[in-house]
Amino acid sequence: MPDQPVKCLVWDLDNTLWRGTLLEGDDLRLPDEVREVVTTLDARGILQSVASKNDHAPAWRQLERWGVAEYFLLPEIGWGPKSESVRRIADGLRFAYSAVAFVDDQPTERAEVAFHLPDVRCYTHDEVPGLPHRPEFTPLVVTEDARQRRRMYQANARRTAVRRDFTGPDQEFLRSLELRMRIDRATDRDLARVEELTRRTSQMNATGVHYSDAALRRLLADAGHEVLVTTLADRFGPHGAVGVVLVARKEGVWQVKLLATSCRVVQFGAGAVILNWLVDRAFAAGVHLVADFRPTERNRMMEIAYRFAGFTTDPCACTTVCDRPDEADTQHLHLVPTPRDAPGTIRVTATDLFPARGR
Ligand SMILES: [Zn+2]
Repeated sequence: MPDQPVKCLVWDLDNTLWRGTLLEGDDLRLPDEVREVVTTLDARGILQSVASKNDHAPAWRQLERWGVAEYFLLPEIGWGPKSESVRRIADGLRFAYSAVAFVDDQPTERAEVAFHLPDVRCYTHDEVPGLPHRPEFTPLVVTEDARQRRRMYQANARRTAVRRDFTGPDQEFLRSLELRMRIDRATDRDLARVEELTRRTSQMNATGVHYSDAALRRLLADAGHEVLVTTLADRFGPHGAVGVVLVARKEGVWQVKLLATSCRVVQFGAGAVILNWLVDRAFAAGVHLVADFRPTERNRMMEIAYRFAGFTTDPCACTTVCDRPDEADTQHLHLVPTPRDAPGTIRVTATDLFPARGR
């Protein structure tokens, strides 16, 4: 499958990324067209790394001097076989070898990688300027999260390192992260990542329903519905889009048709924080809450979040005005909202979504 997208490109340095050979004391040069390939791929969400036979310190210093070191994750600069370097990079990023590409001017190095890792796609240095034009380096959609994928990865690495060394209680660690959540009305630009979230969040999806781009687009234009997107950040950097909420506003009741959060942020209790916020806003608006819930094999955690927030299966007259879900096994969970305290570990900012609305 030659067109399968490349998720990570691993670069050789001497006479591939730069012109010249470091060890021979050449006057090294980073061609503009190569720098442009690096920044272009980065902006498309394609991660990059280095596999080079050199001494680490001087090679890395050279990349820093040109201001491009930050583009390369998990660099492998040393004297081992390149196939092992590429393998460690792919494993470190948790990518299949088929999602990894390798570029090197030396035919023997390409052959060595291809022999041990036949799924890795290999390119010559001559092909570098053309890489951004190839389909495997051209994602169909580049979401906001893709654009900041490398920074999210780097933030996560720093976060994990601090977590490892943190000895206090969990709550204290969460507080030390200075987590900030934003809840905003989704726009056209958010649709791709909202759609992706509904597709990829099977554990934390309250109905298991996957909304297509077209369905979401219709709901964005529908004054009776709110499509909300949640993003999370902390002092290490962005977590990106982590949650989506779909609410139908009815007479006296808000029907939560979908609540899905990314598995990446379960540890921060993001789902519970979103629910807490929603319950508080519903109380302020004087409406009941009804949530569609359809048990799947994987979303028990979401049921626990609803139960924990106080939702029950008790009957209430308000459900008569709610839309009937398409799936017969969908339940209506119900709550008479009460005011909620702000969460202790995440600061929530929401634009004036509820209750006023002037459409
Ligand atoms: Zn009710």
